[in-house]
Amino acid sequence: MSVVAAANLVKTYQAGEISVQAITGVDFTIEPASFVCFVGPSGSGKSTLLNMIGCLDPPTSGSLSVAGQDITHLNRQQAARFRGEHIGFVFQDFNLIPVLTVFENIEYPLQMVQNWPIAKRRAKVEELLEAVGMSDQGNKYPRQISGGQKQRVAVARALTTNAKLVLADEPTANLDHSTANHIIALMKKMRDEFNTTFIFSTHDPKVVKNAETIFTLEDGQLSQERGESHD
Ligand code: ADP
Ligand code: MG
Repeated sequence: MSVVAAANLVKTYQAGEISVQAITGVDFTIEPASFVCFVGPSGSGKSTLLNMIGCLDPPTSGSLSVAGQDITHLNRQQAARFRGEHIGFVFQDFNLIPVLTVFENIEYPLQMVQNWPIAKRRAKVEELLEAVGMSDQGNKYPRQISGGQKQRVAVARALTTNAKLVLADEPTANLDHSTANHIIALMKKMRDEFNTTFIFSTHDPKVVKNAETIFTLEDGQLSQERGESHD
């Protein structure tokens, strides 16, 4: 079963008298453990689409199911619970909590969303620190590490609750080209290791080629192709 299935999905924003059709009726499916990119210029609807998949913003019409559940009509509380159980997020500006260490930033969702005993929590954080190559940085604060390292921490944090799906909206926009490629490679490694589906967006054609499945957004419409790295 697909991890994301959208049918005739529409998102219209109302700004006073004017309505903006950000997504104009798209159909797509995303398979479990796939590595998917949405690409398109600024304003093409990438964030709109990812926000709908992430249950942050409801569709105007059409249907959308994520992790086997129809999320089209969830209320705010149901959406929040659904996100906590199923979805990890990685942001463009990392969004680490400055007063918490690297270790504590990764641990945070486990405290907030799942009440795991402390030993289990610590073991999970250690495992993820190791997986993202940050084992020796756990005691540092975000201001003491580089942008690329911050994004590694954010990827680890997105995986703490064993989410089925990680959504990363322009995760490389604030990174130089080589660091950007490392982060994309890291996300792909995490996909291989944990079988988590990764969906990221970018406006940078250079990072797109590392995806297996590429959806191109143009004026709210979608076309699909396979990336170079698809085996
Ligand atoms: P991208 O992430 O690809 O840059 P967005 O999804 O942010 O694109 O935006 C798609 C379109 O929807 C743009 O025309 C944008 O101006 C419009 N839009 C996005 N969010 C809102 C909003 N909250 N209210 C009104 N229009 C919006
Ligand atoms: Mg955006």
